[in-house]
Amino acid sequence: MVYAEGVRKSFGSLEVLKDVSLSVPTGSVACIIGPSGSGKSTFLRCINHLEKIDGGLLLVDGDFIGYELRQDRLHELPDSAICRRRAEVGMVFQQFNLFGHLTVLQNVIEAPVHVRGESVKSATERAVHLLGKVGLAEKCDAYPRQLSGGQQQRVAIARALAMRPKVILFDEPTSALDPELVGEVLAVMKDLARDGMTMVVVTHEIGFASEVADQLVFMDGGVVVERGVPKEMIANPQSQRLREFLARVK
Ligand code: ATP
Ligand code: MG
Repeated sequence: MVYAEGVRKSFGSLEVLKDVSLSVPTGSVACIIGPSGSGKSTFLRCINHLEKIDGGLLLVDGDFIGYELRQDRLHELPDSAICRRRAEVGMVFQQFNLFGHLTVLQNVIEAPVHVRGESVKSATERAVHLLGKVGLAEKCDAYPRQLSGGQQQRVAIARALAMRPKVILFDEPTSALDPELVGEVLAVMKDLARDGMTMVVVTHEIGFASEVADQLVFMDGGVVVERGVPKEMIANPQSQRLREFLARVK
């Protein structure tokens, strides 16, 4: 599970996260919505320890990603240990971020082989299985530039899964796609949710959020303004800010 309590993060004098708490039980899906600049990406990056938090608590399955507790005090881990822990948290970005000079299969086995030390043979077997799951069994030997945006994003999801993550963070995974390609990526994400993957998804896809998410979180100005059951929240927003936001994205 992901557990955040009172997370704070500033860049210089800009306070981006003021007090963010969130609990995502194992096997559940949380969707985060909110206006541009409200701190959604920063919060995801904090979960992964790509950003260091200034205050509060952040745990993934009971572990601090960047720290360990010794004699009641938090000590920052060395980079190598942080890399290993970060590998337990998958991340899928808006811009796919595939390696252009590697084939689809090589993209998917890269981290299992180089970060987890798996053999090429077993990583390849698993990659072929995962690429089948996201509907790309035929594309193992293609290069990213030969794929559509939707296919590239599905490779990115297979690549995240290859690390057997405890949780996958998605940062607007469909925002860079042509509208007709959004559905195929959301379908793969729905399958993952059904399989019991723990997911935190920043998205503007309100339909996906209401269908798939166990909880919806509305962030604005670095705080959680509202949270709840998606369908109820969307049908009956409590705050003016959420009403205005929904009117813009629906
Ligand atoms: P969007 O919907 O546009 O993706 P967001 O909710 O994801 O927005 P963030 O990317 O988390 O917002 O950014 C929140 C604020 O933090 C913005 O004002 C942004 O300019 C600022 N910010 C983010 N990263 C940095 C950084 N590395 N250095 C300085 N400021 C940053
Ligand atoms: Mg963002």
